[in-house]
Amino acid sequence: MDADSLGLQFGVLGLVAGVGGLAFGFMVRQLHALASALERHASAEQTAQALLKQMHSILTTAPVGIAFTRFRRFEIISTRWAGMMGYSEAELLAMPTHQLFADVTSYETLGPKVAQAFADRRVFSEEFEFRRKDGSSFWGRLQGSPVDEDDASSGTTWILMDVTHERDARERLSWMATHDALTGLLNRAAFETMVANRLKHRPMSLPAALLYIDIDHFKSINDTHGHAAGDQVLIGVADILRAGVRSSDTVARLGGDEFAVLLMGCDGAAAARIAEQIRQNVESKIFTFDQDTRQAAVSLGVAEFDEWTVDVPTAMQAADVALYKAKKSGRNKVRTSGFSDLDETSSSGQGAGDGLGLEGLENI
Ligand code: GH3
Ligand code: MG
Repeated sequence: MDADSLGLQFGVLGLVAGVGGLAFGFMVRQLHALASALERHASAEQTAQALLKQMHSILTTAPVGIAFTRFRRFEIISTRWAGMMGYSEAELLAMPTHQLFADVTSYETLGPKVAQAFADRRVFSEEFEFRRKDGSSFWGRLQGSPVDEDDASSGTTWILMDVTHERDARERLSWMATHDALTGLLNRAAFETMVANRLKHRPMSLPAALLYIDIDHFKSINDTHGHAAGDQVLIGVADILRAGVRSSDTVARLGGDEFAVLLMGCDGAAAARIAEQIRQNVESKIFTFDQDTRQAAVSLGVAEFDEWTVDVPTAMQAADVALYKAKKSGRNKVRTSGFSDLDETSSSGQGAGDGLGLEGLENI
């Protein structure tokens, strides 16, 4: 082998070695890339697994219901949600969402309200009555947000909390703010609001009247028989008032031994007849406390709303004037007052004649 061919062989070998080196380098880089891709894949898988575990933990342990819906069907449902509804998760996944609502009409309002909230970039939040599998119901606060605000088809995430107790407490508070605890009647503030509303919205042609009722010598009932006996009389009078008017009428305890009734669709003459019937019903009732028995009596003032009266204080003042007249004329009486009496009252300190033209009413 001459020197030239030897050189060529070395050259080829060198080239092969060079090319081999390059290929090896390339292979090593590829392997590194593969390794890091695998690593990334493994870590993505780990991340996905960790996320799945976290999501599973949220869905099984969260103290609120969590659900994911698309096209009005559940795709994911939490254990708490299923528990609240009394269905299994599998049952819920197989049923349309509307089946959980106690009232179909309230469900029908849901769609537009949710759409509006999402369009305003707000979380939807509202209380609904839900129906459990066993037919019982509960109130739940439903809150929803879109998975993707710009793509309605991406579905919605929901949170559901049972707010039945909270709602009951709220209703009790609101009831206490508007009612008298002893008799269950409306209190003065609620009555005034109610009268104002009903007068404002009544057709002009619809008559209305107000009765003011005060128990006669009530202090002596308390003094003779005790406060509990007095309470019993207050409850008894409240029952007579409730029973003596239509359910659409409004009865209130204004305070102490004073009551009021708003009679809609009732002119002064009809109201006076109702008042007289109430007077007789109270008079004929025998109250029994322990071994004692006792009768009670009430005085009643009647005021009719004419078509101009929308002002509640004026109307109430007219009824009060009529009641004052009933007390003045000996108690256990019905008296009426028109708004014309009010001027005379302010100048004389007491009501004048029957503004309703119901002379002789004291004799009915
Ligand atoms: P009149 O014939 O002029 O109406 O005299 P009256 O004794 O009824 O006097 P008045 O209407 O002013 O009496 C109201 C009394 O009602 C005074 C108060 O001690 C009593 N009272 C107020 N609230 C209650 C209550 O919740 N229970 C009881 N038992 N008594 C009450
Ligand atoms: Mg009284």
